[in-house]
Amino acid sequence: MVKKILQELGITKNTRYENQYLNDTNIRTAIYMAVVVIALEIWMIIRYVYKRPGLSFMDYFDGETNYIILLSSAVIVLTFGIRHKYLENERKRCIPGIITAVIFLLLDIPLFVRFVYVRKDIMNFRELLSASKYLFLLSVLILSYLIYEFFLYEISHRRSAIYGQYLNVIFALICLGFGIETSVYDVSRERQILCFVTMAIYAACLLIWKPYASFIILSVFFLYFYHEWEPIMNANESPHAQKILEANQINYFTFWIALVMVSVSIYQQRLTEAKKDENLTKAHDLMKKLAVQDELTGISNMYQFVQDAERIMKDHPDDRIYLFINIDNFKNYNDKYGYPAGNRFLCTVADIISKGFPDDPVARQSDDHFVVLTTTSSLETRIREIRNKVIAINPEIYVDLKVGSYMPGKNITESTKLIINPGCQPEQENPAGVITDPHIAVDRARFACGLIKNKFDKHYMEYDENVDRDFHKRQYVVNNIDTAIENGYIQVYYQPVVWSEAHTLCSCEALARWIDPEYGFLSPGDFIPVLEEYRQIHKLDKCIWEMVCCDIHDVTEAGLKPIPVSLNISRLDFELMDTPAVLEDLVKKYKLHKHDIHIEITESALADDMGRLQRDLARIKNDGFSIWLDDFGSGYSSLNVLKDYSFDVLKIDMKFLSSFNDNEKSKIILNTIVDLAAKLGMYSLTEGVETNDEAVFLQEIGCGRLQGYYFGKPMPLQDIVAKIKDGTYIIKKLG
Ligand code: C2E
Ligand code: CA
Ligand code: CA
Repeated sequence: MVKKILQELGITKNTRYENQYLNDTNIRTAIYMAVVVIALEIWMIIRYVYKRPGLSFMDYFDGETNYIILLSSAVIVLTFGIRHKYLENERKRCIPGIITAVIFLLLDIPLFVRFVYVRKDIMNFRELLSASKYLFLLSVLILSYLIYEFFLYEISHRRSAIYGQYLNVIFALICLGFGIETSVYDVSRERQILCFVTMAIYAACLLIWKPYASFIILSVFFLYFYHEWEPIMNANESPHAQKILEANQINYFTFWIALVMVSVSIYQQRLTEAKKDENLTKAHDLMKKLAVQDELTGISNMYQFVQDAERIMKDHPDDRIYLFINIDNFKNYNDKYGYPAGNRFLCTVADIISKGFPDDPVARQSDDHFVVLTTTSSLETRIREIRNKVIAINPEIYVDLKVGSYMPGKNITESTKLIINPGCQPEQENPAGVITDPHIAVDRARFACGLIKNKFDKHYMEYDENVDRDFHKRQYVVNNIDTAIENGYIQVYYQPVVWSEAHTLCSCEALARWIDPEYGFLSPGDFIPVLEEYRQIHKLDKCIWEMVCCDIHDVTEAGLKPIPVSLNISRLDFELMDTPAVLEDLVKKYKLHKHDIHIEITESALADDMGRLQRDLARIKNDGFSIWLDDFGSGYSSLNVLKDYSFDVLKIDMKFLSSFNDNEKSKIILNTIVDLAAKLGMYSLTEGVETNDEAVFLQEIGCGRLQGYYFGKPMPLQDIVAKIKDGTYIIKKLG
């Protein structure tokens, strides 16, 4: 309550913004008022000259002292106002302003001399001093303005507004003084007092004081004027004039109160506006900040980075390099310490990177990815220093940085040759063939970084020509998978799986091939990981499964025994489609037996337990398909997977055979796995058999099925059918 009252009275302190707002609005009002005063005074001077024809120049000069004073002060205030509002950014001396001020100063001096000279006989020193006070104030005003022009022209906008407020005060005092003098002079001749009242309004408009200040200042002037007026009024003996003056007196007091109230109300209104404006400005600033700043770390966001990069690359297209920085193992950091600690860690890393590249644009792209645009000079050293600092943040957990880089100026010519993106915009390049779009450049640096993701000993990878070729191949794959399926570029190759005893044909594995008119023969390594990354793998798998089912159907129709086929399945297939339903439909459509279809799932797909995957696998198994565990032993989670799921066949990864001849331990391991499989009720199959020795060994340890180049490479259907027909392969089913 007390606070509210103090606020209404204007006793509470305003914020810096509010004061600035009030000062600025006062200067704006001063400009309007100065224009009004100038127009008015010019009119008065013309009127004066017109009414008194034939006077000498000096007489005119003497008679119009007050008009000239008011006119000059208004011109100075107007000059300052315009300069403050419109020329503030120039931060130069305003020559026209200086010339104007000097002219008025030169006019002011003879005016002053003449004033004293004319009146020295009729006034004593005190009266002279009092009568010449406007001239004095005018001199102060002009000199203050000149001081500003010569010494203070470089001060900030805020300080300049405060200075303008000071000039306004002098202008207001001149107006009030002028009003008092003219009105007292008029009253003494039984005439109006309106001049003072008018000037009081000017002054009130010129300066929106705080309520209590408005009250004090206006009251002081009204009382002073009343004090000057009272003896004149009493001295007047005419009853008619007495009546007029009495009426004037009552109106005078009413006016005083009204004017004080109006000033207070205008002040409050402006203060409310200032508060609103301040909130708006704050909101605007915040939004502006958010638009260019990463919310979490406070460094630039990608929007700002792209703007900066475009600007810099325009001037330095040849020697700048984009860096993409990824925090290795950040996921584990989050898992171990929680998200708030993870966020703090990201802020620290952002700080380290920013300080490592103090003059370059640095931004957080997303999650734990940062981007930098820098120069190549001592780049390796700088990256090493940053890495060391990041590693040292928390020595308890392994965290490192992986950095990929792309230098547009290196002008990789392959990029243009290899881009065949029918649906995509052509990449933005300058005439020299340098990629200028920061998004593309960052994408390439990120790609290079991705290549060393799982390489323990590599921390820096540059996007070179080989990477470029790979990059475009990947882009091509993602953009063309649908076309490839439609146009039959995707084909199935079948690799035989044989019984280890008689080497008769047990089944085949269906392996995808992409035979492309542009790239030629693409092996699964070129497209499977990309399609998985871009969540398109289900399209390929569905297509392969359909082709396989169709082939089995055709072979059977042609009178051969149906060949059982194992299909590869990706863990994403379970997320991207209703896999059990797709398989079920295909089997129905081609009238196949479910035991002729095996599903191969890799152990890595099962490592992260997913409810849906587990349910779907159980459904597939219950539907009658057999489930094979692929690549057993290639990951870390092999034994857990065996505990949690049940499989019909265990496919032992080919890496155990790679050191078959050199490492006796491989044999022991193979033996153990085969035993383990048998104990868990599974058949075993070893992949990658390339020699007779391997085949003999595997047969001896009890591995029932074998697959590998020794028995046949993956081949098109017609080749395998031909080999069945000519007796190379004899189909022999289980049981
Ligand atoms: P995988 O399922 O482990 O397939 C076995 C891979 O080993 C095949 O490579 C095959 O050509 C190769 N291979 C077979 N015998 C030998 C041998 O004696 N020595 C050597 N060095 N290699 C041998 P491929 O066809 O390049 O397939 C690679 C991987 O791509 C496959 O590994 C599988 O994970 C994936 N893949 C292939 N086709 C498909 C598919 O249609 N769908 C899905 N989701 N993945 C597929
Ligand atoms: Ca497989
Ligand atoms: Ca395999």
